[in-house]
Amino acid sequence: MLEIVINANKLPHGAVRSVRLAIAWIDVQDLEGLTHIELVDKVPKPTDSAPQDIKSAFDEGYGIYGVYHRGSKSTSPYITLHIRDIYRGLPRIFWWTTAPNLLISYTLAHEVGHHVSGKSCYANTSSGRRKLAEYEEAFANRYAFSVQKRMKEKWYYKFAEWLIRNLAQWQYNLGIHAWRRHKYEEAAIHWYIAWSWDPDLSEAANWYWKARELSASNKILGQERADTASRLTNPE
Ligand SMILES: [Zn+2]
Repeated sequence: MLEIVINANKLPHGAVRSVRLAIAWIDVQDLEGLTHIELVDKVPKPTDSAPQDIKSAFDEGYGIYGVYHRGSKSTSPYITLHIRDIYRGLPRIFWWTTAPNLLISYTLAHEVGHHVSGKSCYANTSSGRRKLAEYEEAFANRYAFSVQKRMKEKWYYKFAEWLIRNLAQWQYNLGIHAWRRHKYEEAAIHWYIAWSWDPDLSEAANWYWKARELSASNKILGQERADTASRLTNPE
């Protein structure tokens, strides 16, 4: 069985069990070649050679749910799950439901999707690599989707999905409250969570980008400009 390595000071209760349950939904063949699943509560600073999206997500301090580490000549591939980010925004009482299993499973299956697609193709030109990265990302999303689809055939994961959608709406509303108090960075985080929990909540995505822009310009130009901007547009 795939080993779980814990590199975290404190994990939410039941997290390791949820990871095991999530692994059980993945085809054993697809896990072949992976040495372990690492659970962390803090993402280590990405190296210079890490992909740009990982680096910028790290700089902003949120939004890295998992990383697939490709093997090299001297290292074997493995997956890191950023448990603190996966649980971010999830009220403690929901730790005891099937909701965290489904959230963990989405990230895990996505990273396994990278592993599965990465095993079969190679590219050497830079445009070839870019195309391959896009293809791989789409493949990873489809792979995660198909695992979730099988899970949701069980009523308890269907229920988890319903819980998560409701929590996404709640996070969306928290974003609105934060926005009205001119806390744009906080609003961006709530909307980011809402959007990742319910990808159909496209207004969360729109407001997330606006809040990010405002929190960035806030940092540069001070409160005044953002105040003006927030009077011009307000989410309802
Ligand atoms: Zn990916």
